[in-house]
Amino acid sequence: MTSVVERLQGESPKFSVEFLPPRDAEDEKILWKAVRELEGLDPAFVSITYGAGGSRRDRTIRATGRIAQETTLLPVAHLTAVDHSVAELRNVIGWYAAIGVRNVLALRGDPPGDPMGEWVAHPDGLNYADELVRLVRELGDFCVGVAAFPYGHPRSADLDTDLKFLLRKLNAGADYAVAQLFHAPEPFLRMRDRVAAAGCSAAILPGIMPMLSPRGLSKIVELSGADLPLDVSRRLEPYADDVAGFRATGIDIATEMCQRLLDEGVPALHFYTMNRSKATKEVLGRLGLVARA
Ligand SMILES: Cc1cc2nc3c(=O)[nH]c(=O)nc-3n(C[C@H](O)[C@H](O)[C@H](O)COP(=O)(O)OP(=O)(O)OC[C@H]3O[C@@H](n4cnc5c(N)ncnc54)[C@H](O)[C@@H]3O)c2cc1C
Repeated sequence: MTSVVERLQGESPKFSVEFLPPRDAEDEKILWKAVRELEGLDPAFVSITYGAGGSRRDRTIRATGRIAQETTLLPVAHLTAVDHSVAELRNVIGWYAAIGVRNVLALRGDPPGDPMGEWVAHPDGLNYADELVRLVRELGDFCVGVAAFPYGHPRSADLDTDLKFLLRKLNAGADYAVAQLFHAPEPFLRMRDRVAAAGCSAAILPGIMPMLSPRGLSKIVELSGADLPLDVSRRLEPYADDVAGFRATGIDIATEMCQRLLDEGVPALHFYTMNRSKATKEVLGRLGLVARA
């Protein structure tokens, strides 16, 4: 199986997509519709998030395995340290290897139920993502990615501290990083340039999620950890009660930001799809990265 790093090579810009593990049979159908619709566009990789616990985790492993075995796509399995002993983590990593998955996104994760609640490591587990990077690396020939936060991780005291820990993960053996959502290119580009200035050549992929509705927008703001820039909120304001206008403007804003990121030389755009393909296809089509959808 190829690695993410191999898929990112070459001059032409690429894209990748992220899916969530399905919650039930209906969700599974929605996921697979999106998988099949995006498969033909040849993404560099598809990543599947790791659920907060129990059955959701099994579904991550199952969906990742199905993608590995039944599609032409390159799956990246997310894995978190939440509520796992090191022995359990070894077991999951072994499962991934057994189903042919060689690309892992290594994350610390958040306390279940309350992402900003007190982090309590499993008594036989890990505390930070850099430890998981080392563990995955130790266990085999994996290509490992990590998370990056253009506005700083919400638990980080400041951007300098945040950068220090991002570099620690990359120096622990991670091959690339995928960024949390953001709404303006500058914070992402500053972070990328600071990583490069520190002598680290790992690719940092921007995380993109077009703002398609006021509800989606609130989620994006919450996840990014930063308020919308004034120019963006001014563009969206007139469409608060106009579903089609809001969506069209959200797609415009995402396309413009992606174009700027491509002009700045990012190797790939990573789309948070929420298991839908339409908005990703529209943005990619308008950027000319795939035949216009
Ligand atoms: C691209 C992406 C994908 C994600 N996928 C998932 C997923 O599938 N499932 C899921 O549950 N969550 C997922 N998350 C959310 C992620 O798990 C949380 O944001 C989590 O709080 C941080 O994970 P991390 O891997 O960045 O942790 P870490 O890098 O360990 O950082 C956690 C915090 O600790 C600090 N820190 C790091 N190392 C040290 C150290 N040695 N000493 C002191 N402080 C330190 C960091 O600065 C940060 O504030 C994802 C996030 C992103 C951006």
